[in-house]
Amino acid sequence: MNILTSQLPSGGYGYTFSSITVNPMTFLQITKYLEGCPENDNLEKYLYDLKQLVDEDRNTLELYVMDADFLIFYKKLITVSSDTTFNVNLTCPVCGSTIHTKISMNHDIHFKAVEKKTMDGAEIEFENGHHYTTAVPKVRDFLRVFERYLKFRKIEDMKLIKTISLIQGDYPNQIEEDVLDAKHSDITLLLALYELYFDRVETIPVYCPKCNEGLKPEERREIAVSVDSLIADFFREICINCPIDGNKILFKQVREVGQPGGVQPGDGSRIE
Ligand SMILES: [Zn+2]
Repeated sequence: MNILTSQLPSGGYGYTFSSITVNPMTFLQITKYLEGCPENDNLEKYLYDLKQLVDEDRNTLELYVMDADFLIFYKKLITVSSDTTFNVNLTCPVCGSTIHTKISMNHDIHFKAVEKKTMDGAEIEFENGHHYTTAVPKVRDFLRVFERYLKFRKIEDMKLIKTISLIQGDYPNQIEEDVLDAKHSDITLLLALYELYFDRVETIPVYCPKCNEGLKPEERREIAVSVDSLIADFFREICINCPIDGNKILFKQVREVGQPGGVQPGDGSRIE
């Protein structure tokens, strides 16, 4: 399946190719994913996801990380859903009840528009006087920075590693220190940079039915769900939340078309 680069979060700014290939995973690949993808290792997990995209299309290396992040999510989404909608269970942060909701790629997922000047990078200055230029990292550049942390494990937070990767300079240790030791206005600056260069998907508003019972629409309090939090453990969550249901298995001999459960011939091979 080809995705036009103009449909990616960056809008395809500066790319020399007009589309990128991403396919749903097969059952075999999902099984391998669940076995091969380290459960509690965010760094390895992210590397695994990126490698899958690169294997499928070498141009992934030339994508901005924000676009690759979106494709990681998209690949999983089209794997589990043929109409790009999926069910999620969320815990209400206020009352703790479980909210069942359906998220649709076409209706609920929106990108913040990227301005050309954002993509051209910026000049920043830390409180300690260090000057840097920033650039939107492409996967190829990011992997170079990422390798260092995969090997030495000084930092295991993807958000921090991504922030470090967008600052250009000849002294990686100094950049790392400046990011890790950031205080006051430097923190605000780094958070703003992260949002500009990585966090391009708008949060999805979800309403807790229990907390909003009897309230008028304008009084309702929404919970903002980020796609980031939905990507983590996508498959594991689906396997836990949707244990295999007998209805999904097609027994040729006993089931006929139109029987309760709506199972049609051919559905048996679908992953849901
Ligand atoms: Zn609630």
